[in-house]
Amino acid sequence: MSSTLGNTIDFDSARLKLETSAGGHRLAIPRPRITDLPALQRQLTQVLQTSLELDRVLALFFVQLAEHMGLDELSFSHSARDILVQNGTPATHRCSYRITHSGEYLGDLQFSRTQRFSEAELAQLESLMGTLLYPLRNALLYHEAMQRALSDSLTGAGNRFALRHAMEREIPTAARHGRPLAMIIIDIDYFKAINDRYGHAGGDLALQAVVKCMQGCLRSIDDLFRFGGEEFVVLLSDTDCHSAALVAERIRAAIEDMRFEIKAEPLRMTISVGVAMLRNNESGDALLERSDQLLYQAKQNGRNCVVCC
Ligand code: GH3
Ligand code: MG
Ligand code: MG
Repeated sequence: MSSTLGNTIDFDSARLKLETSAGGHRLAIPRPRITDLPALQRQLTQVLQTSLELDRVLALFFVQLAEHMGLDELSFSHSARDILVQNGTPATHRCSYRITHSGEYLGDLQFSRTQRFSEAELAQLESLMGTLLYPLRNALLYHEAMQRALSDSLTGAGNRFALRHAMEREIPTAARHGRPLAMIIIDIDYFKAINDRYGHAGGDLALQAVVKCMQGCLRSIDDLFRFGGEEFVVLLSDTDCHSAALVAERIRAAIEDMRFEIKAEPLRMTISVGVAMLRNNESGDALLERSDQLLYQAKQNGRNCVVCC
C-alpha cells in the first residue's frame, strides 16, 4: 500500500505555526525519531550554507534526513525551470510539499520512505524544511544566474563560455578513462542570403528554429553550443566515430526536412557538418580546429553533407 500526502507550505506562515507549537501544544509527539530537533536544525542550518549548488544543497539535506528520519528518497522539481533533482530511491509512503515564500513559488519537494510518516514526524519534517528555505532560494538564484551566464540569449543553446567549460570537463575525463569523445561542428549553408532576404530579425528567427530542431535530435540539450553567428558545436561524450556520424547525419537530415516559414514564405535550410574524434593528448583547441577543417571540406563538397575524420 502506498500513501501520498500533499501540502503547500508558505514558510512565513509555517514558521509561525511551528514557533507557536514549540510551546508544546502542536508538537505533543508520540515517540518521534528525532529526539533533539533544535540540534539537528542548527546542524542543518550550518551544513546547508556550505554550497550554492542546487544538487549539493539538496543532497546535504537528504543525507541528514536519511540518517535521522530513515528517509529513502528526496526529490525536488521545478517544472517552469525544467529542474528535477532526485536523491535516493522512491519508496511506498510519500509526502509532498509545494514550497512558496512571500508569494514566490520555489518548487515541489517529495519525501518517501518504506514506513508511514506519523503526524509528529511530519511536523518535524516541516520544521526541518525551514532550514532549507533560504539555501534553496539562494541555490535557485545561483542556478538561474549560471544558466544565463552559460547560455546564448537568442537561441538558448550553450554559449562559447559554456563550450569552454564543457571541454575543460569532458576532455580530461575522456582521456583519463580512455573513452571516446566526439565533436560535431555545424554551419548553416548560405545564411547570408537569408539575412539579405528577410532582414536580420528574420535571420534570428531562422537561427532559433534551427537550434530547436537540432536540440530535438540530441539526448541532452546541454550538448549543443552556439560557437559563432550561425555555427554550432555538439560535444558527445562516450560516443565513438560511427555513432557520432549517425548523430551528425540525423541532425543534417532533420534540418533539411524542417518546415519553417518567415513572413508567410516557406524557407528551406541546410547545414554542413564536420565530425572529429578526440585524439591522444589532443587539446580542445586542436580538436576544434580539426573539426573546423572537416566542416570546410563539407562546404567544399557542395554543402548539405557530413564529413567525418
Ligand atoms: P556558407 O554556406 O559558406 O556558410 O555561407 P554563409 O552565407 O552562411 O556564410 P557565413 O557562414 O560566413 O555567414 C554567416 C552569416 O551569419 C554572416 C552574418 O551576417 C550572419 N550572422 C551572424 N550572427 C548572426 C545573428 O546573430 N543573427 C543573424 N540574423 N545573422 C547572423
Ligand atoms: Mg554559413
Ligand atoms: Mg559561418
